[in-house]
Amino acid sequence: MQVPLLDLKAQYRTIKNEILAAVSEVLESQVCIGGPKVAELEQKIAAVSNCKFAVGASSGTDAILNTLMSLDIKSGDEVITTPFTFFATVGCIARTGAKPVFVDIDPKTYNIDSKKVAAAVTKKTKAIMPVHLYGQMADMDPIMDVAAKNNIAVIEDAAQSITSTYKGKKAGSVGTAGIFSFFPSKNLGGVGDGGMVVTNDEKLYNRLVIMRNHGSQPKYYHKYVGGNFRLDPIQAAAILVKLPHLDKWSQARRDNAAYYDKKFKGSPVITPFISPDCGTIYNQYVIRVPKRDELIKFLKEKTIGCEVYYPVPMHVQECFKYLGYKQGDFPHSEKAAKEVIALPVYPELTNEMKDYVVETILAFVAGKPS
Ligand SMILES: *Cc1c(COP(=O)(O)O)cnc(C)c1O
Repeated sequence: MQVPLLDLKAQYRTIKNEILAAVSEVLESQVCIGGPKVAELEQKIAAVSNCKFAVGASSGTDAILNTLMSLDIKSGDEVITTPFTFFATVGCIARTGAKPVFVDIDPKTYNIDSKKVAAAVTKKTKAIMPVHLYGQMADMDPIMDVAAKNNIAVIEDAAQSITSTYKGKKAGSVGTAGIFSFFPSKNLGGVGDGGMVVTNDEKLYNRLVIMRNHGSQPKYYHKYVGGNFRLDPIQAAAILVKLPHLDKWSQARRDNAAYYDKKFKGSPVITPFISPDCGTIYNQYVIRVPKRDELIKFLKEKTIGCEVYYPVPMHVQECFKYLGYKQGDFPHSEKAAKEVIALPVYPELTNEMKDYVVETILAFVAGKPS
């Protein structure tokens, strides 16, 4: 049996006609930039996130970059974040000229350790960017306390966590701003790149709108240096088709995760820890095992898809050498990078597929791979 990590074709088959109709509508209109589809998606993503405002972006990465630039974060500033994340989080901070300052993760949730954030604040700190990894929000209350005391912004990197919750609050609605990605492997994926920023801050919203159009207002008059950070209407149209299915798809992921949790119980497999404060959307189902790299080889042989998110923490990336960090600085992130492995958890998985994944992994950890 073959079990891919993700099967986008399985999802596409269920909504193909609607997607084709929606994309065709955009093409027939020849509104190729901005327009009603982008505006409608912005309004709906703001609504599902319990935020007043949303601004489309060309990718999750550009949503982060636009937010940092719109908050005037620049050279000489510091932004606190986690080293255990996708590159974009930290790459965007560096691109503004600001210095990424890392805080290690909580080894249970893989999210930034909120108890260690206060100690990383300096006079130069302009923002904290927690990342809601794998679909679960970071422990936001202590982070918001530190931010309020020091008058600094909080940007939620919720690329993997659209509609997930923390103490009943939606991802993106807790901080100064939140960002989402519509990369096709996220729970709400486009048919290409896309992203969004959500916020309740009207001033920030107005700035984001100007910055996504090269900082111009009116046209050809540039008060700021912005960029082309615009969301494509074809992406907006496709995402609008998928949005009504999002909760059902996320529930199917939670059901798959619960199935795995139950089957792995009592084995050496460490299953995901979901805080009682959090409602996760399981963008990834990530386990920890000793001999992780051998397991990867074994799963490949057994034609089961898997992936390591992420094998190299940001503080030891070559491009961030200039920051002066070294191996050993963030032991929990480094250990996680060696032990985590994401398993297939996408909504269309069948019970037979899940059973095959479980049997294969249990055989491996029992030391008698069949
Ligand atoms: C996917 C992702 C991004 C970037 O999103 P893109 O749409 O691929 O640019 C940023 N941060 C995290 C944590 C992500 O998972």
